[in-house]
This record gives sequence, C-alpha cells and structure tokens, in this order.
Amino acid sequence: MGLKSVNQLLRMADEKKKAVVALDCGMFEEMECVVRAAEKVGCPAILMYYPGGMSATAFSAIATDLANRATTDISYILDHGPSYEVAMDCIKAGFPSIMIDHSDLPFEENVRLTKEVVRTAHLFGVDVEAELGHVGEACNEADYKDSSLFAKPDEVVEFIKQTGVDSLAVHIGSAHGIYKSEPSLDLELLKEINRVTDVPLVLHGGSGIPREQVRQAIKLGINKTNFGTEYDGRFAEAMLETLKTRDQNKFTYELAPLYYEKVTDYLEGLMHMVWDD
Ligand SMILES: [Zn+2]
Repeated sequence: MGLKSVNQLLRMADEKKKAVVALDCGMFEEMECVVRAAEKVGCPAILMYYPGGMSATAFSAIATDLANRATTDISYILDHGPSYEVAMDCIKAGFPSIMIDHSDLPFEENVRLTKEVVRTAHLFGVDVEAELGHVGEACNEADYKDSSLFAKPDEVVEFIKQTGVDSLAVHIGSAHGIYKSEPSLDLELLKEINRVTDVPLVLHGGSGIPREQVRQAIKLGINKTNFGTEYDGRFAEAMLETLKTRDQNKFTYELAPLYYEKVTDYLEGLMHMVWDD
C-alpha cells in the first residue's frame, strides 16, 4: 500500500495480465478523486502530471501525500515530458517515474534524446516511459488511421535495447483528444509487439476508444491505459454543476466531496474495466 513507482505497478499488472489506469490531473481535487475511487475499487492507480499547470514540486508533494495515506497502491508520473530539462525538473521534485516523449522526431533522434534522459533518471532510481510511433491528435483522422505511422516491432526491439526504457507507449491506432470517427486499434500488431518484448506497454489516447477494444488490448499486453480528455471533461462538468447549485454557506473545500460524487461512477467504471478479471 502507499507510494510505488510506475514500473513496480506495471510489472505487477503484467504478471496478472491487467492494466493500471492512469489519469491526467490538473488540480488537487482531481488527484484526490482518483485515489478515493482506487481505494474503493481496491486497485492501483497512476496520477499523471501534464506540464503547464501547477508546478512539478506542488504536484509531487500532493501526490506523495495522497499516496502515503492511501489504502491502495498509488504512483505518479510526468506525462509527455517534452525535454531533458522538464524531465530533470520532475526528478528534482521527487517524481518516482517520468515519461519523455520525442516520438515526433525520427527514430535515431528519439533514441538519442530518450537515452540521455534514461541514463540520468536511472542514476536517481527513477523509471522512464517513452513513446514509439507518434500517437497524434484525434482531430486528424490520418493520425490514428494511417498504419504506416504505427510502431514497428523490429524498431520496438531496437529502441528498448538502445535506450533502456522501463515502459513503452506504442502507437497502434489511438490518438489524443476527441476522435473524429471511431478508432480501431491494430490488435494483431499489439500482439506481435508484446511477443517481441517483456517491457510493459502503454496505451495513450484511451478516451473515446470503445471499451471492448481497450479490454482486448489489455489481454494482449497493454499494462497502462492513459485517459486525459474524458476525465478532464467529466471533472469540468462536475465542477460546473456543483458550483451552479452551491449552498452559499459552504466553503470551497467543502465542495470536493460533491465533485467526487459526480465522477465516481466514471472513475470506478474505468478501474473495473482495466483491473477486473
Ligand atoms: Zn498521451
């Protein structure tokens, strides 16, 4: 129970052929709701920090405190770290795990920049996720339908060998944001990638993928499922509704349980989907 590294959670999930849900959180209340839901379901969960909102130091302090007091396993990670500097900023702030994403660059460049981050991160005992095959934007159909952009099994093997990453996000037909049309994950490709590596695999762009496909992907080797857009939208709606009907005698901190009530079904549903047998 308590704070774990992402790698510890993914290795455990891999053994059980399950996945750990990972949610982008921009605010303290969003983080707390994820932890409460995970405790209720009795599964692990990962809080993701997307740079640009609160500082890495603030996120780390809050996440560590929530994890240490949790009755289930909790971890947190930098999501889509854009540079060595941002990655180091998170390591300095105490993150147990980080992601570095140079998947938009040519293979060799992605290898070179990822390797640099992994080398330093490992010195500090921090594990690293990287990305191969660029998971693009869901508003561009080609980003998730053009299979020539997907991860290639031989490159996955080479990338892991050269960089030493601890987990890998692979592009198999998902994208970030709101999908223009229903995505269709390349599950055969995933099966092949999972066959050629033991490193835990990550699915980005989980929001809006039909749940049955996500479940299949978990059976075929995905150990971390990322959801950003859906949770962000649900939480914003929950806040809007709560604030519209706010009892004027209540302080803002007293409203947190009301947000939780409105997102709990969504969060618990996701957690059951990725964790139940
Ligand atoms: Zn992502």
